[in-house]
Amino acid sequence: MAEQFDLIVIGAGSGARYGAQKAARDYGAKVALIERTRWGGSCPNVACKPTKAYLVVADLLHDINTIAERLGIEVGHARANLAKIKARKDSLIKPQEKWVEDLNGAGFATVEGEATLVDAHTVRVGDEELQADRILIATGSRTAVPPVDGIEDVGWIDHVDALELTELPESLLVLGGGAVGLEFGQTFARFGSKVTIVDALEQIAPRADPAATAELAAALEEEGIEIVTNTFVKSTRREGGEIVAVLAPRDGSVERELRAAQLLLASGRVPNVEELNLEEVGVETTKLGIAVDEHLRTSVEGIWASGDVTAVAQFTPIAQYQARIAVDDMFGAEASADYDALPTVIFTDPELAQLGLTEEEAREQGFDADSVRHDLKYVQRASYTDSKHGLYKLVFDARTRRLLGVHIVSRGASDIVQGLAVAMKLGATVDDLARAHHAFPTFGEGVKAAAEQAAAKVKT
Ligand SMILES: Cc1cc2nc3c(=O)[nH]c(=O)nc-3n(C[C@H](O)[C@H](O)[C@H](O)COP(=O)(O)OP(=O)(O)OC[C@H]3O[C@@H](n4cnc5c(N)ncnc54)[C@H](O)[C@@H]3O)c2cc1C
Repeated sequence: MAEQFDLIVIGAGSGARYGAQKAARDYGAKVALIERTRWGGSCPNVACKPTKAYLVVADLLHDINTIAERLGIEVGHARANLAKIKARKDSLIKPQEKWVEDLNGAGFATVEGEATLVDAHTVRVGDEELQADRILIATGSRTAVPPVDGIEDVGWIDHVDALELTELPESLLVLGGGAVGLEFGQTFARFGSKVTIVDALEQIAPRADPAATAELAAALEEEGIEIVTNTFVKSTRREGGEIVAVLAPRDGSVERELRAAQLLLASGRVPNVEELNLEEVGVETTKLGIAVDEHLRTSVEGIWASGDVTAVAQFTPIAQYQARIAVDDMFGAEASADYDALPTVIFTDPELAQLGLTEEEAREQGFDADSVRHDLKYVQRASYTDSKHGLYKLVFDARTRRLLGVHIVSRGASDIVQGLAVAMKLGATVDDLARAHHAFPTFGEGVKAAAEQAAAKVKT
């Protein structure tokens, strides 16, 4: 007889755990979690948390080597010891046994292995079958391998492998200029690798406002990172200890060869769906992931999906948010997802933080969009670190004055947009930001300085 549960959660990542906790706490549900690779999922083991541990080290190294002396600190050249940096990072990661102990302690059944759907209420793991009225698929995503000739034979690495390196590669080719590529690119450049970031699109951070992206690109290039956009990696081959990549510009101009000790893939994610038997059970998918509605329901009654596997927005807080909506919905409470005023951040130095719409998106959505901009170099706080590249750009509706988008490139940008997300959610206007008091000297004051410029743009 299959063991019965109120809820089976497939995957034990960020979304899964929040969903399971909510189901048990708010609805008294008996919950089983199934995990095939890592208890805790990506974020705490191989994504958000360890990468930010590396970024903190990279930023400190950079500050010691580039500004310490100018600030009057007498210190020699600092060098990264990757084996020690990795060991420190590993010490911050919760051991797998502890995850299982904590999950069991919270009252969840934990089942190790790969889950396959048998029908809308039955899941198989190895020889075992589990049954429940409700199933939440929270199986996440993995690194996409782009269609590049020879890529399977060169021994590429992704973020999981990069976090296991104990010797610094002399050079690193990063394929993909999104958040993962940029964060790893800058980290390894600051550790001492020669880094080139290649992207087929027109700009790095493709979803960001172009003005913000340009500032970030300038900051990265100034510290020696080569950024190559509008260019495909056409083929790769191994020659001795090196990987040789052929870079082909999209405009058909001359191709070039680039040699690197390591190739890091960061050009996208694919959903973990292959083993789930979705087609057989009738769960619809798109090219990007499992199709869900605003309640996180899939096309099959009794099955919900949340997190990266839905490809709505691949961030930890979204995985957690969606799981909570799904759980409320499955236990009969009113709940639907709303992604307005969503803050997102690329944790480079300077950080690129974004909230709401770009100017172009605002126009496409029919707003009478206007914008104001204040540059980081005019903010007092930036002078202490000689920070030159960065901005504060506010997008607003010229008619209603409502704030539609915030784009910040600055140290501390992640914390600044966090607060402004509340203001945007409450319907703040650009004039509300201009009138608000601010603390001095802060990086956040650039927002007010930008907002004050909007007064000159009142439409009558
Ligand atoms: C390098 C990197 C850095 C990132 N940094 C940030 C950041 O700073 N901030 C942020 O918000 N987001 C960040 N993200 C994104 C974030 O990690 C993901 O959005 C989040 O972890 C998704 O959670 P999830 O629960 O959907 O999936 P996951 O945490 O990936 O969990 C899914 C789990 O399901 C398991 N699984 C899959 N298939 C099966 C199966 N058939 N049976 C059983 N188990 C299965 C997997 O093994 C996995 O453990 C980063 C991502 C990367 C790659």
